[in-house]
Amino acid sequence: MLNKNVDLQYLKDKVKTGERLLRDEAISLWRLAGFAELGALANSVREQQHPEGIVTYLIDRNINYTNVCNTDCQFCAFYRPNSAHPESYVLTKEELATKIEETLELGGTRILLQGGHNDDLPFDYYLDLISWIHETYGIDLNAFSPSEIHQMKLISGLSYEEILKQLQAAGMHGLPGGGAELLDEDIRKAISPKKIPAELWIEIMETAQNLGLVTTSSMVIGVNETIEQRMNHFDQLRNLQDRSTAKGLEGFNLFVSWPMQINENTSLGRSKRSSTMGASTVDYIKNLAFARIYLDNIKNHQSSWPSCGPDVAEIGLHFGCNDFGSTMIEENVVSQAGGHTAAQSLLPPEEMVLRIQKSGFKAAQRNSDFEIVRRH
Ligand code: SF4
Repeated sequence: MLNKNVDLQYLKDKVKTGERLLRDEAISLWRLAGFAELGALANSVREQQHPEGIVTYLIDRNINYTNVCNTDCQFCAFYRPNSAHPESYVLTKEELATKIEETLELGGTRILLQGGHNDDLPFDYYLDLISWIHETYGIDLNAFSPSEIHQMKLISGLSYEEILKQLQAAGMHGLPGGGAELLDEDIRKAISPKKIPAELWIEIMETAQNLGLVTTSSMVIGVNETIEQRMNHFDQLRNLQDRSTAKGLEGFNLFVSWPMQINENTSLGRSKRSSTMGASTVDYIKNLAFARIYLDNIKNHQSSWPSCGPDVAEIGLHFGCNDFGSTMIEENVVSQAGGHTAAQSLLPPEEMVLRIQKSGFKAAQRNSDFEIVRRH
């Protein structure tokens, strides 16, 4: 018979002494540990890895260069199916320039560039976009999640490595971790069947890491997944991180997660399945803590406000997180699916600092390499 106290104490001791949990042990921890207990454990890991008590934030803008997309993810309200659609767009250089200059005026250090999979854009479009922004503004550019890199492969016929090398030579600094959702094939088939499979997401990230590009990891919960399916996601991230760090590479420099937005704007939100989808705030926070414990080789964990709001993000700081995310001067994808950013599109830097300090931490602005650019 399972002795809850003995088994749980064994698992807690393992975590507190910095010993890695095996997959089955982690599943037991998820099932046995209480909410506050898991939070305290995650905080002990965070204190081992970040004894200085600093919580970082970033000033950046997420620019969505096109909303035309051929992938029809069921949770997406942002995309338009083709360029003939009256609401479709591809941003002009003038529009991009205005957005980037506003970002620089607000002290921004990074531009995230993400968009739909637009069949009308040739590979040269992406190279020109990156080199023009890089040469004109010199700001850090984290661009194109793995599924966009795959779209470039379909259009150009080049390998992932060649695409990433050319983008890097044009001035791209790194790749955002978008499009991972949940790295489990059954889940992907259910919510985004046209998107690249998990193994290609990992392959593209590994190729980027081998080239020295900055990469982040992400996770979306609340898609009717089991704990085992969540573990499939965690294991793929942890294994890749092990491979990269064994080569002396940085690998992912951040883990960020958020709950699936269930909203009538999306086909998923209108479907019968929607009533069982989504994650509660408690589940989201518990998963943050669990990720901090299990992903012991990813140093920075973010408590993300765009989906759940800044109050929930503050709680996440006490469940193992050491990063408050970015100001999100602009965000379209989560907003249009009904995320918190639909109501509040920008969290001013001063408010982020205040929230971090009120939570009992020292606040510091970072760049996309996690270098501190300003202490408060
Ligand atoms: S989530 Fe991204 S890939 Fe999926 S439909 Fe929306 S824009 Fe396209």
